[in-house]
Amino acid sequence: MTKLTNPTEIARETLKQLAVRRILPSPDHYEAIYHEIAQTSDIDRVHPGLKELVDALGNLPQQSSVLTRQIEQIRHAIIEEKWAEIPEQIFRVVNSQGGQAELSKSWADLIRDLILQWDLRNPSYTPSRKKDALDRVLINFKQDSSILNEKLNGLVTAWAETGIAPIVGSEIGVSEAEFTAMNGGDSATTNTEDVNWREWRDAFAQALEFGLSARLLHNPDLQAETNAVAQEAKVVESAAGMDKWLPRLRKFWLKLELENDNELRLCDGLMGLLRLLTDNMAAIVVDDEWVRGQIAVVQHIMAQPLDMRVIYDAEVGLKEVLFKQSQVKHSLVEAQAVLKNMLTSFIDRLGVMSESTDKYHDKISTYAEKIDSANDLTSIRHIMEDLLHDTRSMQTDVLRSRDDLRDARKQADEAHRRVTELEAELSQLSDKVRADQLTGALNRRGLEEAYEIETARAMRSSSPLAVALLDIDNFKKLNDTQGHAVGDSALVHLVKVVKDLVRPTDTVARYGGEEFVVLMPETDLEGAIQVMQRVQRELTKRFFLHNNEKMLITFSAGVTLYRVGESRDDTIQRADQAMYHAKKSGKNRVETLD
Ligand code: GH3
Ligand code: MG
Ligand code: MG
Repeated sequence: MTKLTNPTEIARETLKQLAVRRILPSPDHYEAIYHEIAQTSDIDRVHPGLKELVDALGNLPQQSSVLTRQIEQIRHAIIEEKWAEIPEQIFRVVNSQGGQAELSKSWADLIRDLILQWDLRNPSYTPSRKKDALDRVLINFKQDSSILNEKLNGLVTAWAETGIAPIVGSEIGVSEAEFTAMNGGDSATTNTEDVNWREWRDAFAQALEFGLSARLLHNPDLQAETNAVAQEAKVVESAAGMDKWLPRLRKFWLKLELENDNELRLCDGLMGLLRLLTDNMAAIVVDDEWVRGQIAVVQHIMAQPLDMRVIYDAEVGLKEVLFKQSQVKHSLVEAQAVLKNMLTSFIDRLGVMSESTDKYHDKISTYAEKIDSANDLTSIRHIMEDLLHDTRSMQTDVLRSRDDLRDARKQADEAHRRVTELEAELSQLSDKVRADQLTGALNRRGLEEAYEIETARAMRSSSPLAVALLDIDNFKKLNDTQGHAVGDSALVHLVKVVKDLVRPTDTVARYGGEEFVVLMPETDLEGAIQVMQRVQRELTKRFFLHNNEKMLITFSAGVTLYRVGESRDDTIQRADQAMYHAKKSGKNRVETLD
């Protein structure tokens, strides 16, 4: 008979069978025939409530082989409808869950053995090793007294055996696999070898996929290969498979290494090219304010180890300055064009003027001749009338030219003023490039930007941001006795030492003449003091040389922490107060103000 699956058809067939077989249509009979037609399996015939019960028992924590056997018995009793047995069996399961399971050794015996073994000297298990093992068992199995009993018993047995214990797992009375599982390994039924290769496989696949692939965006081919190698790892299903896959990984690694070499060479090449370009540009356009600033920044960046943040910061700063400068440059070109137009029309006017003056001159001579030869009043009157007319038009010409010229001059003056103004603005903008030209530290503008970035970061990550203000001690005296150039070198030296000792993520900026601000993200007050003191110690070791003479420079510093929401001026003022305090307390010190 073909198996019916549609419930309506099964129901119809059931009713038909009840009639054909002349069976009383009671619920039980209906159900029995229904299952017969639907060919329901034994376990599925069980009442849903009972099924739920068996499933729930199967989901109890701490499944042991005993419990599994007990649940199986209950399942059979249900299928065979041995109702009388079921309560007793359920009772047994509940008891075993309640902690009255059979113990591998009674607690009394176990404690006695444990104390005995604890005190016995054993060359393989020193007291501290025993203590470690006991601690671990107590921590890992404290939840279940029967398992704890079993593991402690294992421990005692291991101690009782002589000889060196091969592995920590057996030492603490668990199998190696269980020990691995206990420490976050796979299932307790897999063996160690199994666990190891599986873990390695997953670690490899993840390292390739999440660690490497994401970093190869610039090289799609290599990225695709990384993903392919990771996929190949994922489908490995045995230790032998893993052995086969490893040479593939090695080959890929070699390729990656070669690629990396190529990239480094490419990077070096590009840097060389850029250096050549900037050096040459600096030589050619040394007077052009527009590019001077940018070249200085790029050269400064190239002079230090490449750091993404420096490059990023420089890019942001440069972009802004470039944008403004290009606007100003554009206006400048326009203003110059206006000025040129004015000059052209001025010259044109001059031409017209001299032309009409020439014409006037010629005409006057003609009139003079005419007047000379005129011998009647009428003709003289005509000459006079013509002369008057010409003089008048000439006068208008001159007046118009004069007005035009005045206008032209006004516009030329205006254009000239604008050009001067724009040139000054351009020069100012160039100064606004973020780096301080002398020391290479950030300048004020650079500090403003860095401060914005760091305070935002500090707020986002709720981490402290330390701000230090450094002021060189007795700098005026150094300048006065050694000269300004030596003072300048001292500033350069100080910045170099500070930059060498702070972290790459810290910001060093020139705040004023001989004052510097250091921003230290994720640093508390104590940490910042230590950094400043380290710089002070380093300065006593790393002298700065002038004419082969060792010069010692010291500074006083004030350190404070940024308070969320406060302005830059407020933070720096607090650091300044602390710095002032350091000066007052004898200089070459670090003071703080909370
Ligand atoms: P104190 O220990 O109290 O700080 O004394 P000081 O002499 O260092 O302090 P003061 O502020 O009186 O003098 C700072 C001097 O720094 C004054 C100025 O001539 C000098 N200075 C400022 N900027 C520069 C610079 O760019 N180069 C050089 N060489 N000197 C500078
Ligand atoms: Mg000062
Ligand atoms: Mg000073």
